[in-house]
Amino acid sequence: MSKKQTKYIFVTGGVTSSLGKGIVSASLGLLLKSRGFSVTIQKLDPYINIDPGTLNPYEHGECYVTDDGAETDLDLGHYERFLDSATSQDNNVTTGKIYQTVIEKERRGDFLGKTVQVIPHITNEIKRRIKILAKQDYDIIITEIGGTVGDIESLPYIESVRQLKWELGEKNSMVIHLTLLPYLAASGELKTKPSQHSVRQLMESGIQADVLVCRTEYKIPKEQRAKLAQFCNVPLSNVIECKDLDTIYEVPLYLQKQDFDDVVLKELGLESNKEADLKDWKTFLKKYQNPKKKVEIALIGKYVSLQDSYKSIAEAFIHAGADQEIDVRLRWVYSGDLEESTVAEKLKGVDGMLIAPGFGDRGIEGKILAAKNARENNVPLLGICLGMQIMTIEFARNVLGYGKANSMEFDPSTPEPVISIMEEQKNVVEKGGTMRLGAWKCNLDPKSQLAAIYGHSQISERHRHRYEFNSEFRDEYEKNGLIPTGFNPETGLVETLELKGHPFYIGVQYHPEYKSTVATPHPLFKAFVKACSTHAK
Ligand code: GLN
Repeated sequence: MSKKQTKYIFVTGGVTSSLGKGIVSASLGLLLKSRGFSVTIQKLDPYINIDPGTLNPYEHGECYVTDDGAETDLDLGHYERFLDSATSQDNNVTTGKIYQTVIEKERRGDFLGKTVQVIPHITNEIKRRIKILAKQDYDIIITEIGGTVGDIESLPYIESVRQLKWELGEKNSMVIHLTLLPYLAASGELKTKPSQHSVRQLMESGIQADVLVCRTEYKIPKEQRAKLAQFCNVPLSNVIECKDLDTIYEVPLYLQKQDFDDVVLKELGLESNKEADLKDWKTFLKKYQNPKKKVEIALIGKYVSLQDSYKSIAEAFIHAGADQEIDVRLRWVYSGDLEESTVAEKLKGVDGMLIAPGFGDRGIEGKILAAKNARENNVPLLGICLGMQIMTIEFARNVLGYGKANSMEFDPSTPEPVISIMEEQKNVVEKGGTMRLGAWKCNLDPKSQLAAIYGHSQISERHRHRYEFNSEFRDEYEKNGLIPTGFNPETGLVETLELKGHPFYIGVQYHPEYKSTVATPHPLFKAFVKACSTHAK
């Protein structure tokens, strides 16, 4: 029996960056999945970094971590949240990775005698990385090409798409071009010319777009639609409007109303009698948009001026809030602003606090003051990764009496290293991809608050850190009420802390936010939002 033909959808962007290719790709993925197809989404990033792990969040927002420990672009978070299925290493490729592989092959002698060139060597490697996902037997692979058509950096990707379209043959691949229709207030019109130009630019690279998805602030009038179809060589039905909406979670429904999924299936020669079943999605949206209560939670971090730095956390709050029909408002608090004299004022009136993950010592003392404030005033607190480490330091200094307690990250020679460098990290010198990454098992004490929250005591969560709770101090913490309750089954590494007698004072070394999806809101975020709502009363 011949293996089924995997179909490929390429999503390109024109006119400007930040049009939301990731959301459109994720929305399309959801629609196709709900029509009964197995779908995965991949992102090709044109930058030279091997992965975004070494990038400052101010550059590209959050670094998203997969189960298999890849540090990836934040768009992969959207893919997982919309599709409710896990991505992997193979779902994010950068130019850096492509060149690294090709250069390693060259050094090994794989191309002996040949001149190594962008075409065919780099393009072959790009095509290999695109097709690799087909091994997992997906019906459809959506590949989002980062950047904007015309960028020097994305040229090899565009050329690879051109070759693939040709090699795969009719109906086995298609190109969706996302573009912008700017609105000119002076003439009161949406303009199509920039889109015409970017479609033409794509054609200069040998690619005809099959579908246009147009980002716009206003509805597209009939004449403009006709104009786009005519000038860009696509049927009228293939001009899809993507108007600004209140929330990204409305996008799949908005696209569905225009039969976007049917248009795509037709282009790929696929049939499905199954209606897209978005019942649960609609229920989620209804609850999200009609909350019965509200809570305000302080998100305390050092990158708060770029909220994309904490994308998965903010989205996890949306899922958990919708689940309980609670409007979760985030108060973004810059940890550097928290001082002895300001902390009470800055955190006044919040129903809960989340101390965010992070690296480096800027803003650390402010986070410690926030943890103290939450502990002493019975305000619910969730500490994630660095957040848990902060709770550990605060408790040592103010309860255990270790005035100089610190993490070795901030003071390598601290006499009281309550957070220490992990054994296997001691000799690590390279920065890229060397942290403790990805999913690891954690066993929870069956009597713990967390075991009750999860509903079971064996969990698996994703990680990204170099430092850990120093188990030498474990007994003292335990005796004084900040109890380690979750452990790595092999190494005994402390994964969670809970404060006895406090309504919700929980720190986790892992990142629950990466696993929250619309279909499966994370239990820890749900429990935290609930505790905040109780506190609000
Ligand atoms: N900087 C800390 C560590 O490396 C925490 C990391 C994080 O918050 N992701 O252990």
